[in-house]
Amino acid sequence: MGRLTEIAHAKLNLALDVGDVRPDGYHEIHSIMQSLELGDIIVLEDRPAGIALECRTGDPMKQGALHFVGSNVESMPPSDGRNLAWQAAERLMQATGVHSGLQITIRKAIPLSAGLAGGSADAAAVLRGLNSLWNLGLTCEELAAIGKEIGADIPFCLLEGTAEVSGIGEIVKSVTPPPPWPIILLKQPVTVSTAACYAGYDRLSQPVRVDVNRMLKALDDQDLGRVAKCLANSLEAVTLSQFPELLHWKTIMEEAGCLGVLMSGSGPTLFGLARDLDHGQRIFTKLSNILKQERQGPLPNLYFTRLWSNGVCQTEKRRRYG
Ligand code: ATP
Repeated sequence: MGRLTEIAHAKLNLALDVGDVRPDGYHEIHSIMQSLELGDIIVLEDRPAGIALECRTGDPMKQGALHFVGSNVESMPPSDGRNLAWQAAERLMQATGVHSGLQITIRKAIPLSAGLAGGSADAAAVLRGLNSLWNLGLTCEELAAIGKEIGADIPFCLLEGTAEVSGIGEIVKSVTPPPPWPIILLKQPVTVSTAACYAGYDRLSQPVRVDVNRMLKALDDQDLGRVAKCLANSLEAVTLSQFPELLHWKTIMEEAGCLGVLMSGSGPTLFGLARDLDHGQRIFTKLSNILKQERQGPLPNLYFTRLWSNGVCQTEKRRRYG
């Protein structure tokens, strides 16, 4: 009976430029995507026939967070064919003609609809994992060709680490990874529709364009101060105008000492960079104290984690977590 465990790392956009809409409705993007230690655990096991999927609440503290404050019992993704992990398994079976029974168990630590590509990361982990479990011998490019039909972030999530991403997400090139800089994530309990965010961007009279090459240079020089200054996201203003509380929290994160604060993807997660673990710990403590004093409405989740840059697609380098 085969069994394999994969980690599906969350992703951030350190820089995201959104360009023109293509005739097929997708936008051209240019982005620096970065994996985080925080991730979902995906367990793949043989079963007699058919696909079965179970989503369980994970524990961020055992899944890449150094600290966590909040509630990790938000809604779970669907446990059927709507789940991107399920779709990945199905498409891989169609592409290879292998039709084994499969049990997928997902322990979710990546918040849902957060701009952290949780669903895409899970789907990519299933593709990577099954490639190993079933000895399919597919290359990263072949897996990416299957994955991109399910979600534009999947080619990056297959590779992980640090990458320059363009096209609609299908052109992925690894770049110099930064050290494991500490990161504070703040996830407001609001849901952002990625499609609505892009539609809002299209309605802007003046699109917000980002020079991603500046971020590339700063990363190449491993210059944390410049990386913090180059954080930029074309979609940030759209989501911030829809949820003014995000602007409030962005200011609080900056005042708490983050070197730079940015929204990831279409949001709503905000992330802040810290100099080192001590600095990150001080910021995390300040922010969690501020959260304790907030009395109104549901509170954001707060995570302290690190950039993760050991990503490789090769099956022989797969990670085994208990
Ligand atoms: P992106 O940044 O790629 O837009 P996101 O982080 O904003 O993604 P996800 O957490 O990937 O958002 O989830 C978006 C939607 O996908 C949700 O409506 C969710 O129900 C659905 N979904 C399907 N499969 C999964 C999965 N395995 N994990 C999380 N969400 C999933």
